[in-house]
Amino acid sequence: MRVHVLTLFPEMFGSPLAAGVLRRARELGTLEVWVHQLRDYAGGRHLQVDDTPYGGGQGMVMKPEPLVAAIEHVAAADAPRRILLSPQGIAFSHERARSLACERALLLICGRYEGLDERVKAHVDEELSIGDYVLSGGELAALVVLDAIARLLPGVLGNAASPADDSFATGLLEHPQYTRPEDFRGARVPDVLLSGEHAAIARWRRQQSLRLTLERRPDLLAHAPLDATDRAFLRKLGWRDGDGG
Ligand code: SAM
Repeated sequence: MRVHVLTLFPEMFGSPLAAGVLRRARELGTLEVWVHQLRDYAGGRHLQVDDTPYGGGQGMVMKPEPLVAAIEHVAAADAPRRILLSPQGIAFSHERARSLACERALLLICGRYEGLDERVKAHVDEELSIGDYVLSGGELAALVVLDAIARLLPGVLGNAASPADDSFATGLLEHPQYTRPEDFRGARVPDVLLSGEHAAIARWRRQQSLRLTLERRPDLLAHAPLDATDRAFLRKLGWRDGDGG
Protein backbone atom coordinates (compact mmCIF):
# COMPACT_ATOMS: atom_id res chain seq x y z
CA MET A 1 0.00 0.00 0.00
CA ARG A 2 1.16 3.50 -0.78
CA VAL A 3 0.18 6.29 1.64
CA HIS A 4 0.68 9.96 0.82
CA VAL A 5 0.48 12.55 3.60
CA LEU A 6 -0.12 16.23 2.98
CA THR A 7 1.10 18.42 5.85
CA LEU A 8 2.74 21.67 6.91
CA PHE A 9 4.84 19.69 9.40
CA PRO A 10 6.58 16.79 7.61
CA GLU A 11 9.09 16.59 10.47
CA MET A 12 6.35 15.18 12.73
CA PHE A 13 6.43 11.92 10.76
CA GLY A 14 10.15 11.10 11.05
CA SER A 15 10.34 9.21 14.37
CA PRO A 16 6.97 7.41 14.20
CA LEU A 17 7.76 6.07 10.72
CA ALA A 18 11.21 4.91 11.87
CA ALA A 19 10.02 2.73 14.78
CA GLY A 20 8.00 -0.39 15.52
CA VAL A 21 5.25 -1.64 13.25
CA LEU A 22 5.41 1.30 10.83
CA ARG A 23 9.13 0.77 10.35
CA ARG A 24 8.65 -2.96 9.87
CA ALA A 25 5.88 -2.46 7.32
CA ARG A 26 8.09 -0.09 5.35
CA GLU A 27 11.12 -2.38 5.52
CA LEU A 28 9.01 -5.27 4.26
CA GLY A 29 7.95 -3.09 1.32
CA THR A 30 4.30 -3.64 2.29
CA LEU A 31 3.88 0.04 3.10
CA GLU A 32 5.34 3.05 1.30
CA VAL A 33 4.83 6.48 2.85
CA TRP A 34 5.35 9.74 0.98
CA VAL A 35 5.14 12.90 3.08
CA HIS A 36 4.44 16.05 1.03
CA GLN A 37 5.06 19.60 2.26
CA LEU A 38 1.92 21.61 1.54
CA ARG A 39 3.91 24.85 1.31
CA ASP A 40 5.57 23.51 -1.85
CA TYR A 41 2.21 24.03 -3.57
CA ALA A 42 1.70 27.62 -2.37
CA GLY A 43 2.18 30.48 -4.79
CA GLY A 44 3.48 34.01 -4.30
CA ARG A 45 6.65 35.27 -2.70
CA HIS A 46 5.53 34.36 0.81
CA LEU A 47 4.30 30.83 0.07
CA GLN A 48 1.16 31.69 1.99
CA VAL A 49 -1.06 28.73 2.96
CA ASP A 50 -3.53 30.46 5.29
CA ASP A 51 -5.58 33.64 5.47
CA THR A 52 -8.09 35.40 7.71
CA PRO A 53 -11.67 34.06 7.77
CA TYR A 54 -14.39 35.77 5.74
CA GLY A 55 -16.99 37.13 8.13
CA GLY A 56 -14.37 37.85 10.77
CA GLY A 57 -13.42 35.84 13.83
CA GLN A 58 -10.39 34.33 15.50
CA GLY A 59 -7.52 32.47 13.86
CA MET A 60 -6.58 31.62 10.30
CA VAL A 61 -8.11 29.34 7.68
CA MET A 62 -6.14 27.18 5.23
CA LYS A 63 -6.44 28.54 1.71
CA PRO A 64 -8.00 26.29 -0.94
CA GLU A 65 -5.50 26.82 -3.80
CA PRO A 66 -2.40 25.10 -2.32
CA LEU A 67 -4.46 22.27 -0.83
CA VAL A 68 -6.33 21.49 -4.03
CA ALA A 69 -3.17 21.86 -6.16
CA ALA A 70 -1.41 19.34 -3.89
CA ILE A 71 -4.37 16.94 -3.86
CA GLU A 72 -4.59 17.07 -7.67
CA HIS A 73 -0.84 16.57 -8.05
CA VAL A 74 -0.84 13.42 -5.89
CA ALA A 75 -4.11 12.19 -7.39
CA ALA A 76 -2.76 12.50 -10.95
CA ALA A 77 0.15 10.22 -10.12
CA ASP A 78 -1.49 7.66 -7.83
CA ALA A 79 -5.33 7.95 -7.72
CA PRO A 80 -5.42 7.48 -3.92
CA ARG A 81 -8.51 7.52 -1.73
CA ARG A 82 -8.48 11.06 -0.33
CA ILE A 83 -9.05 11.31 3.40
CA LEU A 84 -9.29 14.55 5.32
CA LEU A 85 -8.53 14.28 9.04
CA SER A 86 -11.18 16.35 10.79
CA PRO A 87 -12.92 16.46 14.18
CA GLN A 88 -16.13 16.77 12.15
CA GLY A 89 -15.50 13.51 10.30
CA ILE A 90 -16.97 10.03 10.72
CA ALA A 91 -15.51 8.27 13.78
CA PHE A 92 -12.48 6.14 12.83
CA SER A 93 -12.86 2.50 13.91
CA HIS A 94 -11.37 -0.95 13.54
CA GLU A 95 -13.89 -1.65 10.78
CA ARG A 96 -12.82 1.44 8.85
CA ALA A 97 -9.14 0.54 9.34
CA ARG A 98 -9.85 -2.93 7.97
CA SER A 99 -11.54 -1.66 4.85
CA LEU A 100 -8.93 1.06 4.25
CA ALA A 101 -6.21 -1.61 4.56
CA CYS A 102 -7.59 -3.06 1.29
CA GLU A 103 -6.99 0.18 -0.65
CA ARG A 104 -4.03 0.42 -3.01
CA ALA A 105 -3.23 4.06 -2.18
CA LEU A 106 -4.37 6.66 0.35
CA LEU A 107 -3.87 10.39 0.72
CA LEU A 108 -4.11 11.67 4.32
CA ILE A 109 -4.71 15.42 4.44
CA CYS A 110 -3.72 17.19 7.66
CA GLY A 111 -5.45 20.43 8.59
CA ARG A 112 -4.02 23.16 10.84
CA TYR A 113 -5.15 26.47 12.33
CA GLU A 114 -8.97 26.84 12.40
CA GLY A 115 -9.26 24.23 9.67
CA LEU A 116 -9.67 24.32 5.87
CA ASP A 117 -11.67 26.46 3.52
CA GLU A 118 -14.96 24.55 3.15
CA ARG A 119 -14.58 24.31 -0.65
CA VAL A 120 -11.63 21.89 -0.28
CA LYS A 121 -14.09 19.27 0.95
CA ALA A 122 -15.44 18.79 -2.58
CA HIS A 123 -11.99 17.37 -3.43
CA VAL A 124 -11.86 14.65 -0.74
CA ASP A 125 -13.58 11.26 -0.58
CA GLU A 126 -14.18 11.18 3.17
CA GLU A 127 -13.52 12.93 6.48
CA LEU A 128 -12.29 10.90 9.44
CA SER A 129 -12.18 11.88 13.11
CA ILE A 130 -10.09 10.01 15.67
CA GLY A 131 -12.27 11.14 18.59
CA ASP A 132 -14.44 13.79 20.15
CA TYR A 133 -11.70 16.26 20.99
CA VAL A 134 -9.81 18.87 18.99
CA LEU A 135 -6.12 18.46 18.17
CA SER A 136 -4.01 21.35 16.96
CA GLY A 137 -3.38 19.61 13.66
CA GLY A 138 -4.20 16.52 11.61
CA GLU A 139 -0.68 15.03 11.82
CA LEU A 140 -1.19 13.00 15.00
CA ALA A 141 -4.58 11.85 13.70
CA ALA A 142 -2.98 10.79 10.40
CA LEU A 143 -0.37 8.78 12.32
CA VAL A 144 -3.09 7.07 14.37
CA VAL A 145 -4.95 6.10 11.19
CA LEU A 146 -1.73 4.99 9.49
CA ASP A 147 -0.61 2.83 12.43
CA ALA A 148 -4.01 1.16 12.79
CA ILE A 149 -4.01 0.31 9.07
CA ALA A 150 -0.36 -0.77 8.85
CA ARG A 151 -0.72 -3.47 11.51
CA LEU A 152 -3.54 -5.03 9.46
CA LEU A 153 -1.50 -5.29 6.26
CA PRO A 154 -0.57 -8.90 5.42
CA GLY A 155 2.62 -10.12 7.11
CA VAL A 156 3.36 -6.92 9.03
CA LEU A 157 2.79 -8.37 12.50
CA GLY A 158 5.15 -11.29 13.11
CA ASN A 159 2.39 -13.62 14.27
CA ALA A 160 -0.23 -13.53 11.51
CA ALA A 161 -2.97 -14.56 13.95
CA SER A 162 -2.52 -11.73 16.42
CA PRO A 163 -4.50 -8.89 14.79
CA ALA A 164 -7.46 -11.24 14.51
CA ASP A 165 -7.53 -11.68 18.31
CA ASP A 166 -7.18 -7.99 19.14
CA SER A 167 -9.90 -5.93 20.78
CA PHE A 168 -12.66 -5.02 18.26
CA ALA A 169 -11.44 -7.53 15.62
CA THR A 170 -13.58 -10.18 17.33
CA GLY A 171 -16.34 -7.68 18.08
CA LEU A 172 -15.31 -7.82 21.77
CA LEU A 173 -12.53 -6.47 23.99
CA GLU A 174 -9.58 -8.83 24.24
CA HIS A 175 -9.10 -11.08 27.28
CA PRO A 176 -6.38 -10.20 29.88
CA GLN A 177 -2.81 -11.28 29.08
CA TYR A 178 -0.10 -12.53 31.46
CA THR A 179 3.58 -13.40 31.16
CA ARG A 180 6.37 -14.44 33.58
CA PRO A 181 6.73 -14.41 36.58
CA GLU A 182 3.90 -16.64 37.82
CA ASP A 183 3.78 -14.60 41.04
CA PHE A 184 4.30 -10.84 40.88
CA ARG A 185 4.20 -9.25 44.35
CA GLY A 186 1.57 -11.74 45.46
CA ALA A 187 -0.61 -11.41 42.31
CA ARG A 188 -0.68 -14.85 40.68
CA VAL A 189 -1.30 -15.80 37.08
CA PRO A 190 -4.72 -17.57 36.91
CA ASP A 191 -4.20 -21.34 37.36
CA VAL A 192 -6.02 -22.21 34.15
CA LEU A 193 -3.32 -20.50 32.07
CA LEU A 194 -0.68 -22.75 33.66
CA SER A 195 -2.75 -25.91 33.20
CA GLY A 196 -1.77 -26.68 29.60
CA GLU A 197 -5.43 -27.55 28.89
CA HIS A 198 -6.10 -25.78 25.63
CA ALA A 199 -9.88 -26.11 25.67
CA ALA A 200 -10.09 -24.78 29.24
CA ILE A 201 -7.77 -21.87 28.36
CA ALA A 202 -9.83 -20.98 25.29
CA ARG A 203 -13.04 -21.08 27.37
CA TRP A 204 -11.51 -18.88 30.12
CA ARG A 205 -10.28 -16.37 27.56
CA ARG A 206 -13.64 -16.18 25.86
CA GLN A 207 -15.41 -15.67 29.17
CA GLN A 208 -12.95 -12.99 30.28
CA SER A 209 -13.42 -11.24 26.97
CA LEU A 210 -17.21 -11.32 27.39
CA ARG A 211 -16.99 -10.16 31.02
CA LEU A 212 -14.69 -7.25 30.20
CA THR A 213 -16.82 -6.16 27.25
CA LEU A 214 -19.97 -6.26 29.38
CA GLU A 215 -18.26 -4.16 32.08
CA ARG A 216 -16.63 -1.56 29.85
CA ARG A 217 -18.27 -1.56 26.42
CA PRO A 218 -21.71 -3.16 26.65
CA ASP A 219 -22.64 -1.33 23.42
CA LEU A 220 -20.33 -3.72 21.51
CA LEU A 221 -22.39 -6.75 22.56
CA ALA A 222 -25.32 -5.65 20.42
CA HIS A 223 -23.27 -6.37 17.26
CA ALA A 224 -20.77 -9.01 18.45
CA PRO A 225 -21.11 -12.54 17.05
CA LEU A 226 -22.33 -14.42 20.16
CA ASP A 227 -23.28 -18.09 20.34
CA ALA A 228 -25.72 -19.71 22.79
CA THR A 229 -22.92 -20.43 25.31
CA ASP A 230 -21.77 -16.80 25.22
CA ARG A 231 -25.32 -15.57 25.75
CA ALA A 232 -25.91 -17.93 28.67
CA PHE A 233 -22.64 -16.79 30.30
CA LEU A 234 -23.51 -13.11 29.82
CA ARG A 235 -27.01 -13.62 31.23
CA LYS A 236 -25.44 -15.07 34.38
CA LEU A 237 -23.55 -11.77 34.69
CA GLY A 238 -26.78 -9.78 34.44
CA TRP A 239 -26.83 -9.02 30.69
CA ARG A 240 -30.24 -8.90 29.10
CA ASP A 241 -30.34 -10.20 25.53
CA GLY A 242 -31.18 -7.48 23.03
CA ASP A 243 -30.66 -4.47 25.29
CA GLY A 244 -26.96 -4.06 24.43
CA GLY A 245 -26.08 -3.77 28.09
N1 SAM B 1 -11.95 24.65 14.03
C1 SAM B 1 -12.05 23.24 13.80
C2 SAM B 1 -13.34 22.71 14.41
O1 SAM B 1 -13.76 23.24 15.44
O2 SAM B 1 -13.89 21.73 13.88
C3 SAM B 1 -10.85 22.51 14.42
C4 SAM B 1 -9.58 22.74 13.69
S1 SAM B 1 -8.23 21.88 14.42
C5 SAM B 1 -7.58 23.06 15.52
C6 SAM B 1 -7.03 21.81 13.14
C7 SAM B 1 -6.94 20.50 12.39
O3 SAM B 1 -6.61 19.45 13.27
C8 SAM B 1 -8.18 20.04 11.69
O4 SAM B 1 -8.35 20.70 10.45
C9 SAM B 1 -7.94 18.56 11.53
O5 SAM B 1 -7.14 18.27 10.39
C10 SAM B 1 -7.13 18.22 12.77
N2 SAM B 1 -7.92 17.60 13.84
C11 SAM B 1 -8.25 18.16 15.03
N3 SAM B 1 -8.96 17.33 15.79
C12 SAM B 1 -9.09 16.19 15.10
C13 SAM B 1 -9.74 14.95 15.35
N4 SAM B 1 -10.40 14.73 16.49
N5 SAM B 1 -9.68 13.98 14.40
C14 SAM B 1 -9.03 14.20 13.24
N6 SAM B 1 -8.40 15.36 12.94
C15 SAM B 1 -8.43 16.35 13.85
